[in-house]
Amino acid sequence: MAGPRTASLVELECRGVTGPVRMLRRRKGRSPRESLAEKRRRARKILRRLAAAYPDAKTALNFSSPLELLVATILSAQCTDTRVNQVTPALFRKYRTAADYARAAPGVLERDIRSTGFFNAKAKSLRRAGAAIATEHGGRVPDTMEALLALPGVGRKTANVVLGNAFGKDEGFVVDTHVGRLARRMGLSRETDPEKVERDLNELVPRGQRAMAAHRFIFHGRQVCHARRPLCEKCPVLPLCPRVGVA
Ligand code: SF4
Repeated sequence: MAGPRTASLVELECRGVTGPVRMLRRRKGRSPRESLAEKRRRARKILRRLAAAYPDAKTALNFSSPLELLVATILSAQCTDTRVNQVTPALFRKYRTAADYARAAPGVLERDIRSTGFFNAKAKSLRRAGAAIATEHGGRVPDTMEALLALPGVGRKTANVVLGNAFGKDEGFVVDTHVGRLARRMGLSRETDPEKVERDLNELVPRGQRAMAAHRFIFHGRQVCHARRPLCEKCPVLPLCPRVGVA
Protein backbone atom coordinates (compact mmCIF):
# COMPACT_ATOMS: atom_id res chain seq x y z
CA MET A 1 0.00 0.00 0.00
CA ALA A 2 1.35 3.37 -0.89
CA GLY A 3 2.36 5.56 2.03
CA PRO A 4 1.28 9.13 2.49
CA ARG A 5 2.41 11.27 -0.38
CA THR A 6 5.33 13.51 0.40
CA ALA A 7 4.35 17.13 -0.04
CA SER A 8 6.38 18.97 -2.64
CA LEU A 9 8.47 21.99 -1.80
CA VAL A 10 5.94 24.20 -3.47
CA GLU A 11 3.02 22.71 -1.54
CA LEU A 12 4.85 23.19 1.74
CA GLU A 13 5.88 26.63 0.65
CA CYS A 14 2.26 27.50 -0.04
CA ARG A 15 1.33 26.35 3.45
CA GLY A 16 3.85 28.77 4.89
CA VAL A 17 6.22 26.13 6.22
CA THR A 18 9.52 27.82 6.86
CA GLY A 19 11.96 25.06 5.89
CA PRO A 20 10.82 24.82 2.29
CA VAL A 21 10.78 28.61 2.14
CA ARG A 22 14.53 28.52 2.63
CA MET A 23 14.87 25.72 0.09
CA LEU A 24 12.79 27.54 -2.50
CA ARG A 25 14.84 30.64 -1.97
CA ARG A 26 17.98 28.65 -2.66
CA ARG A 27 16.48 27.97 -6.06
CA LYS A 28 15.95 31.68 -6.52
CA GLY A 29 16.28 32.71 -10.12
CA ARG A 30 14.99 29.40 -11.46
CA SER A 31 11.47 28.15 -12.01
CA PRO A 32 10.47 25.68 -9.29
CA ARG A 33 10.09 22.07 -10.40
CA GLU A 34 6.40 21.42 -9.94
CA SER A 35 3.54 19.61 -11.58
CA LEU A 36 0.70 21.47 -13.29
CA ALA A 37 -1.52 20.78 -10.26
CA GLU A 38 1.14 22.20 -7.91
CA LYS A 39 1.60 25.23 -10.12
CA ARG A 40 -2.17 25.78 -10.18
CA ARG A 41 -2.26 25.66 -6.40
CA ARG A 42 0.63 28.10 -6.16
CA ALA A 43 -1.00 30.43 -8.68
CA ARG A 44 -4.21 30.30 -6.62
CA LYS A 45 -2.27 31.27 -3.48
CA ILE A 46 -0.51 34.08 -5.33
CA LEU A 47 -3.81 35.43 -6.60
CA ARG A 48 -5.33 35.24 -3.15
CA ARG A 49 -2.53 37.41 -1.81
CA LEU A 50 -2.82 39.85 -4.70
CA ALA A 51 -6.59 40.01 -4.16
CA ALA A 52 -5.98 41.01 -0.54
CA ALA A 53 -3.44 43.62 -1.64
CA TYR A 54 -5.51 45.05 -4.51
CA PRO A 55 -9.18 44.36 -3.79
CA ASP A 56 -10.41 47.13 -6.09
CA ALA A 57 -8.10 46.62 -9.06
CA LYS A 58 -9.67 47.56 -12.38
CA THR A 59 -8.69 48.91 -15.74
CA ALA A 60 -7.16 52.37 -15.55
CA LEU A 61 -8.63 53.36 -18.93
CA ASN A 62 -11.70 55.58 -18.79
CA PHE A 63 -14.63 54.52 -20.97
CA SER A 64 -18.40 54.42 -21.02
CA SER A 65 -19.10 52.02 -23.90
CA PRO A 66 -17.47 49.04 -25.64
CA LEU A 67 -16.48 51.31 -28.56
CA GLU A 68 -14.75 53.76 -26.21
CA LEU A 69 -12.87 50.94 -24.50
CA LEU A 70 -11.83 49.47 -27.83
CA VAL A 71 -10.52 52.84 -28.98
CA ALA A 72 -8.75 53.53 -25.67
CA THR A 73 -7.12 50.09 -25.73
CA ILE A 74 -5.86 50.57 -29.28
CA LEU A 75 -4.42 53.94 -28.22
CA SER A 76 -2.78 52.43 -25.13
CA ALA A 77 -0.25 50.43 -27.17
CA GLN A 78 3.21 51.78 -26.30
CA CYS A 79 1.55 54.55 -24.28
CA THR A 80 0.59 55.07 -20.65
CA ASP A 81 -3.03 54.79 -19.58
CA THR A 82 -2.70 58.24 -18.02
CA ARG A 83 -1.79 59.77 -21.36
CA VAL A 84 -4.63 57.93 -23.10
CA ASN A 85 -7.06 59.24 -20.50
CA GLN A 86 -5.91 62.77 -21.23
CA VAL A 87 -6.65 62.35 -24.94
CA THR A 88 -9.91 60.39 -24.89
CA PRO A 89 -12.40 62.89 -23.37
CA ALA A 90 -12.14 65.24 -26.37
CA LEU A 91 -11.81 62.31 -28.78
CA PHE A 92 -14.95 60.61 -27.50
CA ARG A 93 -16.91 63.86 -27.72
CA LYS A 94 -15.83 64.30 -31.34
CA TYR A 95 -16.08 60.68 -32.56
CA ARG A 96 -19.31 59.22 -31.21
CA THR A 97 -19.80 56.24 -33.52
CA ALA A 98 -17.64 53.65 -35.26
CA ALA A 99 -18.51 55.33 -38.57
CA ASP A 100 -17.11 58.63 -37.26
CA TYR A 101 -13.67 57.02 -37.01
CA ALA A 102 -14.06 55.39 -40.43
CA ARG A 103 -14.76 58.69 -42.19
CA ALA A 104 -12.30 60.88 -40.27
CA ALA A 105 -10.52 63.17 -42.72
CA PRO A 106 -6.88 62.33 -43.50
CA GLY A 107 -4.59 63.94 -40.98
CA VAL A 108 -7.34 65.00 -38.59
CA LEU A 109 -7.63 61.79 -36.57
CA GLU A 110 -3.85 61.55 -36.57
CA ARG A 111 -3.65 65.01 -35.03
CA ASP A 112 -6.31 64.18 -32.46
CA ILE A 113 -4.37 61.18 -31.14
CA ARG A 114 -0.84 62.40 -31.84
CA SER A 115 0.30 62.56 -28.21
CA THR A 116 -0.33 58.82 -27.71
CA GLY A 117 2.54 58.01 -30.09
CA PHE A 118 2.58 55.81 -33.20
CA PHE A 119 -0.37 57.93 -34.27
CA ASN A 120 -0.26 57.04 -37.98
CA ALA A 121 -0.56 53.32 -37.30
CA LYS A 122 -3.16 53.86 -34.56
CA ALA A 123 -5.26 56.15 -36.78
CA LYS A 124 -5.16 53.51 -39.52
CA SER A 125 -6.32 50.84 -37.06
CA LEU A 126 -9.12 53.07 -35.74
CA ARG A 127 -10.35 53.93 -39.25
CA ARG A 128 -10.29 50.32 -40.44
CA ALA A 129 -11.80 48.90 -37.24
CA GLY A 130 -14.44 51.65 -37.26
CA ALA A 131 -15.34 50.81 -40.88
CA ALA A 132 -15.61 47.07 -40.12
CA ILE A 133 -17.77 47.68 -37.05
CA ALA A 134 -20.02 50.07 -38.99
CA THR A 135 -20.47 47.88 -42.05
CA GLU A 136 -20.28 44.34 -40.65
CA HIS A 137 -21.69 44.72 -37.15
CA GLY A 138 -24.30 47.44 -37.50
CA GLY A 139 -22.14 49.94 -35.62
CA ARG A 140 -21.87 47.78 -32.48
CA VAL A 141 -18.60 46.37 -31.22
CA PRO A 142 -18.89 42.56 -31.46
CA ASP A 143 -18.76 40.59 -28.23
CA THR A 144 -17.02 37.40 -29.28
CA MET A 145 -13.31 36.66 -29.43
CA GLU A 146 -13.56 35.45 -33.01
CA ALA A 147 -15.34 38.58 -34.27
CA LEU A 148 -13.08 40.93 -32.32
CA LEU A 149 -9.93 39.27 -33.66
CA ALA A 150 -11.30 39.70 -37.18
CA LEU A 151 -11.32 43.49 -36.71
CA PRO A 152 -8.28 45.24 -38.22
CA GLY A 153 -5.71 46.21 -35.60
CA VAL A 154 -7.26 44.08 -32.85
CA GLY A 155 -5.12 41.38 -31.25
CA ARG A 156 -5.79 39.03 -28.35
CA LYS A 157 -4.78 41.54 -25.70
CA THR A 158 -7.23 44.17 -26.97
CA ALA A 159 -9.94 41.55 -27.48
CA ASN A 160 -9.49 40.22 -23.94
CA VAL A 161 -9.60 43.74 -22.50
CA VAL A 162 -12.85 44.53 -24.33
CA LEU A 163 -14.50 41.18 -23.58
CA GLY A 164 -13.54 41.23 -19.91
CA ASN A 165 -14.21 44.87 -19.12
CA ALA A 166 -16.95 46.01 -21.49
CA PHE A 167 -18.92 42.76 -21.83
CA GLY A 168 -18.10 40.96 -18.58
CA LYS A 169 -16.89 37.92 -20.56
CA ASP A 170 -13.90 36.33 -18.91
CA GLU A 171 -12.44 34.70 -21.98
CA GLY A 172 -8.67 34.91 -21.59
CA PHE A 173 -5.89 36.50 -19.58
CA VAL A 174 -4.88 40.00 -20.69
CA VAL A 175 -1.11 39.89 -21.17
CA ASP A 176 0.60 43.25 -21.30
CA THR A 177 4.20 44.05 -20.42
CA HIS A 178 3.50 43.85 -16.64
CA VAL A 179 1.62 40.56 -16.79
CA GLY A 180 4.29 38.94 -18.97
CA ARG A 181 7.11 40.09 -16.67
CA LEU A 182 5.34 38.96 -13.49
CA ALA A 183 4.35 35.59 -14.95
CA ARG A 184 7.97 34.88 -15.79
CA ARG A 185 9.35 36.10 -12.46
CA MET A 186 6.78 34.08 -10.55
CA GLY A 187 7.69 30.96 -12.54
CA LEU A 188 4.20 30.70 -14.01
CA SER A 189 5.43 30.93 -17.60
CA ARG A 190 8.78 30.76 -19.34
CA GLU A 191 7.46 32.34 -22.50
CA THR A 192 8.13 35.80 -23.87
CA ASP A 193 5.50 35.78 -26.61
CA PRO A 194 2.32 37.29 -25.06
CA GLU A 195 0.02 34.72 -26.68
CA LYS A 196 2.09 31.87 -25.24
CA VAL A 197 2.16 33.55 -21.82
CA GLU A 198 -1.62 33.84 -22.03
CA ARG A 199 -1.91 30.16 -22.92
CA ASP A 200 0.16 29.26 -19.82
CA LEU A 201 -1.84 31.56 -17.53
CA ASN A 202 -5.15 30.30 -18.92
CA GLU A 203 -3.99 26.81 -17.89
CA LEU A 204 -3.49 28.01 -14.32
CA VAL A 205 -6.36 30.43 -13.77
CA PRO A 206 -9.95 29.35 -14.49
CA ARG A 207 -12.45 31.37 -16.53
CA GLY A 208 -14.29 33.81 -14.32
CA GLN A 209 -11.11 34.90 -12.53
CA ARG A 210 -8.87 35.92 -15.40
CA ALA A 211 -9.93 39.55 -15.90
CA MET A 212 -9.53 40.41 -12.20
CA ALA A 213 -6.30 38.42 -11.98
CA ALA A 214 -4.85 40.41 -14.88
CA HIS A 215 -5.86 43.71 -13.23
CA ARG A 216 -4.12 42.62 -10.03
CA PHE A 217 -0.97 41.57 -11.86
CA ILE A 218 -0.91 44.96 -13.58
CA PHE A 219 -1.41 46.84 -10.29
CA HIS A 220 1.32 44.74 -8.70
CA GLY A 221 3.65 45.36 -11.62
CA ARG A 222 3.10 49.08 -11.37
CA GLN A 223 3.36 49.36 -7.60
CA VAL A 224 5.78 46.65 -6.43
CA CYS A 225 7.19 44.33 -9.06
CA HIS A 226 8.77 47.09 -11.11
CA ALA A 227 10.62 46.23 -14.31
CA ARG A 228 13.96 47.56 -13.11
CA ARG A 229 13.90 47.26 -9.34
CA PRO A 230 11.20 45.04 -7.97
CA LEU A 231 10.47 45.73 -4.30
CA CYS A 232 10.68 42.07 -3.29
CA GLU A 233 11.21 42.87 0.37
CA LYS A 234 7.77 44.53 0.45
CA CYS A 235 6.04 41.98 -1.75
CA PRO A 236 3.16 39.92 -0.32
CA VAL A 237 3.92 37.23 -2.88
CA LEU A 238 7.58 36.80 -1.90
CA PRO A 239 7.20 33.44 -0.09
CA LEU A 240 5.58 32.00 -3.22
CA CYS A 241 7.84 33.59 -5.81
CA PRO A 242 11.07 32.06 -7.18
CA ARG A 243 12.01 35.51 -8.52
CA VAL A 244 13.10 34.12 -11.86
CA GLY A 245 15.55 36.48 -13.53
CA VAL A 246 15.65 38.94 -10.60
CA ALA A 247 19.20 39.85 -9.57
S1 SF4 B 1 8.35 41.85 -6.36
FE1 SF4 B 1 9.85 40.18 -6.22
S2 SF4 B 1 8.84 38.63 -4.94
FE2 SF4 B 1 7.25 40.03 -5.66
S3 SF4 B 1 6.42 39.10 -7.52
FE3 SF4 B 1 8.04 40.52 -8.15
S4 SF4 B 1 9.90 39.25 -8.27
FE4 SF4 B 1 8.38 38.09 -7.07
